[in-house]
Amino acid sequence: MAPGLAVILVGEDPASKVYVSHKEKACQEVGIKSEVLRLPATTSENELLQVVKELNLRKDIHGILVQLPLPSVIREEKVIAMISPHKDVDGFHPVNMGSLLIGRPRLIPCTPLGCLKLIQELGYDLSGKRAVVVGRSNIVGKPMAALLIHANATVTVCHSRTKDLAEVTREADVLVVAIGKANFITGSMVKEGALVLDVGMNRLPNSKLAGDVEFESVSQVAGWLTPVPGGVGPMTIAMLLNNTLEAFSYVAE
Ligand code: NDP
Repeated sequence: MAPGLAVILVGEDPASKVYVSHKEKACQEVGIKSEVLRLPATTSENELLQVVKELNLRKDIHGILVQLPLPSVIREEKVIAMISPHKDVDGFHPVNMGSLLIGRPRLIPCTPLGCLKLIQELGYDLSGKRAVVVGRSNIVGKPMAALLIHANATVTVCHSRTKDLAEVTREADVLVVAIGKANFITGSMVKEGALVLDVGMNRLPNSKLAGDVEFESVSQVAGWLTPVPGGVGPMTIAMLLNNTLEAFSYVAE
């Protein structure tokens, strides 16, 4: 049996549609059987929960992903909590988040996992390094901080209430930025030679995609910098495939 991934898309959000089509294509390329369930924007929370319950029971589906954001009438946390933790390939279920926090991770959120893999692929040893994560969301900032802590970095997490942000970011040997503000981090906020990972994906008025990091000025200072597009984004999709395979392996356990 091939690994099976079910992706649930509710409504017509254009960005979500693009992300889902990228995920579908990536699955096809590696032989993962993907099934996209397109539900109308009028879907109720109960209807969505029922769809998730049915997927939890299906033997040919090993991974379930609910594309976020959901329409505002649906509580995301309710839906995420309904996904079987063994099939939660986004790694957002409280059981998977908790497992990550206590250092016994199973399915890890794809974007921070992708960032960690990039750092590891460079052969960079995080042990004892100063890492700064800008952004504290449940899907990027917090799990990223947990991964960096487990890799023995000394980690600072910044957010919108952080005072003197530039002073903090300038101390970072490794800087991960996930705030959702185009070109926010500039060269003067970065330490010479730092590794900089730009998670941001911001659509500019001219419809181009921009990261949270100003590439021109930061690339002059940083030792290494991920581009947008073409950096963390593709790694996120790669880690989704990785997690689907991981979830598939649980069937054999
Ligand atoms: P959220 O909006 O959930 O979180 C943003 C975080 O940034 C919050 O913690 C917020 O602080 C913080 N923040 C906002 N403004 C500032 C500021 N001026 N100074 C310091 N911190 C600030 O975003 P996500 O984590 O979901 O996403 C962040 C970015 O990453 C977006 O551009 C998103 O599109 C992109 N993304 C990319 C992915 C990929 O595959 N490449 C995957 C997921 C996200 P506070 O908590 O105080 O409000």
